Amino acid sequence: MSAKSWREIPIGGDIVEAGNSVEYKTGGWRTFKPVWYPERCIHCLFCWLYCPEPAILVEDGKMVGINYDFCKGCGICVKECPDRAHALELVREK
Ligand code: SF4
Ligand code: SF4
Repeated sequence: MSAKSWREIPIGGDIVEAGNSVEYKTGGWRTFKPVWYPERCIHCLFCWLYCPEPAILVEDGKMVGINYDFCKGCGICVKECPDRAHALELVREK
């Protein structure tokens, strides 16, 4: 995708195309990354619900992993993962 000039941007900077987050690989922003421990996961999907990117992978109603192309390391999933599961941990990106 090429960058748009200011003349091509909608007035007010409105975002007119819904669901466009998949077009931007935000993984490059990361300084921390969440690590998932599947053996502890209770598949409540809070991480999927709160993640601001399409980064939590779900199949058949269960979490199956993290797509690091889109995970920007915000840590929201780690914060929202229930204490009784503690299935996500935030570590510094190497
Ligand atoms: S760290 Fe942020 S972007 Fe990455 S999976 Fe968790 S909530 Fe999503
Ligand atoms: S919030 Fe935690 S326990 Fe719930 S699905 Fe995500 S990783 Fe699993």
